Amino acid sequence: MRFVTSALVLCSLVLASSASAQQAAPTQQAPQRGIVNITGQLYRAQNNNHYTVFLVTPEGIIMSDPINRDFSRWLKAEFATRFKVPVRYVLYTHRDWDHASGGVVFADTAEFVGHRNMLVALAPPAGNPPLPGDALKIDANKNGLVERGEAAGQYSERFAMFDYNRDDVLSGAEIARGSVSDVYAPTTTYADRHTVTLGGKRVTMTYLGVAHADDSSVLHFPDERAVFSADILQVKRLPGGLAPTVGSWIDALTTINALDYEHALTGHALSGTKKDAMQSQQYLKDISKGVAAGVAAGRSLAEIQKTLTLDAYKGFERWDTIREAHIAAVYATMAGTR
Ligand SMILES: [Zn+2]
Repeated sequence: MRFVTSALVLCSLVLASSASAQQAAPTQQAPQRGIVNITGQLYRAQNNNHYTVFLVTPEGIIMSDPINRDFSRWLKAEFATRFKVPVRYVLYTHRDWDHASGGVVFADTAEFVGHRNMLVALAPPAGNPPLPGDALKIDANKNGLVERGEAAGQYSERFAMFDYNRDDVLSGAEIARGSVSDVYAPTTTYADRHTVTLGGKRVTMTYLGVAHADDSSVLHFPDERAVFSADILQVKRLPGGLAPTVGSWIDALTTINALDYEHALTGHALSGTKKDAMQSQQYLKDISKGVAAGVAAGRSLAEIQKTLTLDAYKGFERWDTIREAHIAAVYATMAGTR
């Protein structure tokens, strides 16, 4: 489960400055929201740094991640005024709190679909794992729990979303499970591929393997020639991390790019085209090849970090801040230290 935790931590770091709106202090700025048409009846909706997509049919709406309750309430009201049909399907990209929370808002009309590993991730906290490092630091009374008064950082921002049994203390097991208590569990799960049909439209979910999280799906809208994937698919932006292995990331992008599509719709930042997604796939191959060549030539990690500059991706967001960490992660995999 180590990689899952680090993926969640990365996800959280990215979002540290945009805590979910339902937890936002009243003094905080109003969230940036909007809806943009992609093609036909397919739309992309924004909540600050997060995006979801939805497809309107005469019989109802098929949407992806609900993001959080406050955003979902806003979106539901937009649907009512603009389209006058209910949400029939919520199709999850993966279980991370910052994408998957708030679905309960649509539970009166929708079926929820996710990869079957989502249910494992959302299962009640189990066992008695020790507190992770960042929680140990704030456990002032050293009782192995984080009380509400001790909570800081992500634990104070999302205390209720961690506190599964609502006893006002966070155990190691609750922290290991993550702040997923507001994720409405999928009512339908699948293993490899799943298609929903509604109002003459189709959306297919395909499992992406273990990159980023072990329950990721790519959504394919064949008539609209579009795909949607949060956190794995990025446009002109390097991934937040390459856990658990660069190979799993190459596999996931290969699965996405085997689909027939034009519109590459992402959960963060820019959207683009299949050409962009192919570039992201090429970055993963290039870093993999570059590190392998360095290891074969007996170079140290520091030497590889200095020489493998991957200049073709210089214009990508995070090229300057995360490239060396990516090289270190690939190096660790190849050197067998991870
Ligand atoms: Zn995520």
